[in-house]
Amino acid sequence: MRTLTGVGSTPLSGVGTARWYRPEADLTLPERPAPATVDGDAERARFAAARDAVRDDIREARDRAAARVGEEEAAVFEAHEQFLDDPELVDDIEAAMAEGTPAPHAVSDRFAAAIEQFEALDGPMAERADDLRDVRDRLLRALLDAAPGTDVADLPPGTVLLAERLTPSDTAALDPAAVAGIATVTGGRTAHAAIIARSLSIPAVVGVGESLRDVDAGTDLLVDGSDGRVVVDPDAATREQADTAATTPVPDRVSTADGVPITVAANVGSEAEVAPAAERGADGIGLFRTEFLFLDRESPPTEAEQYEAVTAALSAFPGEQVVVRTLDVGGDKRVPYLDLPAESNPFLGRRGIRLSLDDHRDLFETQLRALLRAAAHGGDADLAVMFPLVSRMTEVESALSAVDAVAADLEAEGVPHAIPDVGVMVETPAAVFLAGRLADAVDFLSIGTNDLTQYVMAADRENDGVAAYHDPLHPAVLRAVDRTTAAAAETDAWVGMCGEMAGDPALTELLVALGLDELSMSAVTVPAVKTRIRQIDSAAARARADEALACETRAEVVDVLGLDRD
Ligand code: PEP
Ligand code: MG
Repeated sequence: MRTLTGVGSTPLSGVGTARWYRPEADLTLPERPAPATVDGDAERARFAAARDAVRDDIREARDRAAARVGEEEAAVFEAHEQFLDDPELVDDIEAAMAEGTPAPHAVSDRFAAAIEQFEALDGPMAERADDLRDVRDRLLRALLDAAPGTDVADLPPGTVLLAERLTPSDTAALDPAAVAGIATVTGGRTAHAAIIARSLSIPAVVGVGESLRDVDAGTDLLVDGSDGRVVVDPDAATREQADTAATTPVPDRVSTADGVPITVAANVGSEAEVAPAAERGADGIGLFRTEFLFLDRESPPTEAEQYEAVTAALSAFPGEQVVVRTLDVGGDKRVPYLDLPAESNPFLGRRGIRLSLDDHRDLFETQLRALLRAAAHGGDADLAVMFPLVSRMTEVESALSAVDAVAADLEAEGVPHAIPDVGVMVETPAAVFLAGRLADAVDFLSIGTNDLTQYVMAADRENDGVAAYHDPLHPAVLRAVDRTTAAAAETDAWVGMCGEMAGDPALTELLVALGLDELSMSAVTVPAVKTRIRQIDSAAARARADEALACETRAEVVDVLGLDRD
């Protein structure tokens, strides 16, 4: 038995038989012919046809991924389409073909240069090289008429898939019932492939390094994504530990070691995610992103469709709470039929509650009608409703008046309804500074650290060029969270967190110490976060959190919290 270490990416473990995935091996280029013998026009036509075929493939992969793992994760395929149409790449490839380079060689050369440029960068930017490889391999496969290689969608049960790296397309095609785990030589926790593996609940350890290459196919392996280890030929005791962890019933509600109860809820971005969230032991839903009901269609969903979707989620969590967020589009989320204005700074423009109150009041009222009717749906979970991207008290007042007006209409029509608890998302610095007043006006606050980090740090969450700035561990973001919880503590409102930060088990102690009553996350991390909560000693945790709040840099925060990361 021997243990290799990497970065735990999906905090689950699995045991199975190693199988190498080497897609590059199927894409050997033919010998390069003399330039004079190459017909540039024919090569350009071949390249154009390959691009069209790949575009169709990418769109198909996007739709499949959206159905299986949700819209947000599927967005990576839109980035792939942008690489496919990148004018600089395309122009360079066409120029090379005009000078007598065959299409496959031109694609391979130009993509190699772009991949090298990305690899020279730090952190998440370097991981975009994997996205480029994905697009390159698709193009080469189309140009060379190559078979898709090992069919990752059809692996035998109990496979531990080993690869140099996995592309997002490969990962989205995996069958979680067959794949016991994934281990890769390179790659990080925030690469898109890693995010998709998490959404599919496949145990994964990435970035194991050279030593993984020595593992032969057919070897028994344990992949432990909680501790970031890959155990080669695990002995019976080690297997048993993994089995126990996998089958340990997820504890119901959990409290810290000294008895502070914390709600651990799930974020849900598609209908398909509701049942797995309940299976993983989530204490209800802390963020139901209603956008998925509005995307990929020609017109908005009806009141009845929205009522159905929300009541289905309520039925999956009897006795718990389901927090539904009203429509949050604009910014990076475009909905063609809504005719959203073109803006030079969409993240600072008409998005979230601003669109609902100012531009699409009709949609907002229809959604509220569905929600108030669902709130009266007896016997299941309690419904709560929250508003995204609030920055002014007047928005909360308007939204609450809209709730009252819709309730009055339903009353007059004799339609059964109830007024749910109402909350506000804290995603802007304005909401942080107003947190006490907001908390007085509503039942709860939910901190959306994805956007809050973007606005506190002035760093676009979608722009890889500023990924190092979009950092929830920066002391300024921690202080914004602390300020919010401290202000709300003076009121009766509870405070949750539903940004990605809430699902990082290494930060659970800090977040609980900062006073969060609820953490809401991608369902797969629920068991790991619950386990951490039960180990927390509140006084020691608060002392460490105070030290973190006093830090000036991320590096100091990482050091104070004893985190194993750069
Ligand atoms: C957030 O901003 O942290 C959040 C949870 O909302 P979304 O990621 O959907 O913008
Ligand atoms: Mg947000």
